[in-house]
Amino acid sequence: MSGPRFALRGVVKSYPGRGGGRVSALSGVDLDLAEGRILALTGPSGAGKSTLARILMGFIRAESGSVRYRGRPLEEAPRRPFCRDNQMVFQNPLLACDPLFTVARIIAEPLRVQGLPPDGGETLAVMEEMELPSALLPRRPDELSGGELQRVALARALVLRPGFLVLDEPFSALDDLTALRILRLLKAACRRRSLGALFISHHRRHVHELADGEAVLEGGRLLAAPA
Ligand code: ADP
Repeated sequence: MSGPRFALRGVVKSYPGRGGGRVSALSGVDLDLAEGRILALTGPSGAGKSTLARILMGFIRAESGSVRYRGRPLEEAPRRPFCRDNQMVFQNPLLACDPLFTVARIIAEPLRVQGLPPDGGETLAVMEEMELPSALLPRRPDELSGGELQRVALARALVLRPGFLVLDEPFSALDDLTALRILRLLKAACRRRSLGALFISHHRRHVHELADGEAVLEGGRLLAAPA
């Protein structure tokens, strides 16, 4: 299909502030996200990056402006197929993974949510892609390192074979070497699967390694559009 996967036009979002006012998070953002491309979204803390990510995933709605997904308004996209095809990875895998679940169950959870049967073969395949040994299958999050748990979260994001990932600072809680190793695994997975992504990061080297282009947000406005 031609045309961008996501197209944002004039997207505005604010939140209720203290004392009855509003805090502006996005004020008129125009952005296209192409199929199969990895776009970095950078900018200072409070610039509106996570807000943009949450709007793309349909977790929150823009106040005004439009968000189109594959040529149609995002809010009209049937939710279950949308969730299968667009996965989010968060900064802190400890918050994103149920502490009572085993690795096997964490990775298979998106299949269950989609009403699909567990697929041990696919679970092992995504674990291998993230260089996670199968010996970790019965472990729980508190028995894993931060890097292992973030690789589990990435394996979970891949298990439904999505076409797009929203990555909200997925490496910022990790040390440099661990972050770089996982980033390279992720990059290889994206290439292999022709995956597109929005990659929120404040780390120049990570942006350079992973992204095909960069958009810079500041104060809710896009400063530099992607090349
Ligand atoms: P970034 O991800 O670039 O750090 P955010 O999108 O998290 O930026 O935040 C943009 C602005 O919106 C900031 O001023 C932040 O304080 C505010 N904000 C974000 N989420 C909320 C919320 N749930 N309630 C109130 N204000 C919020």
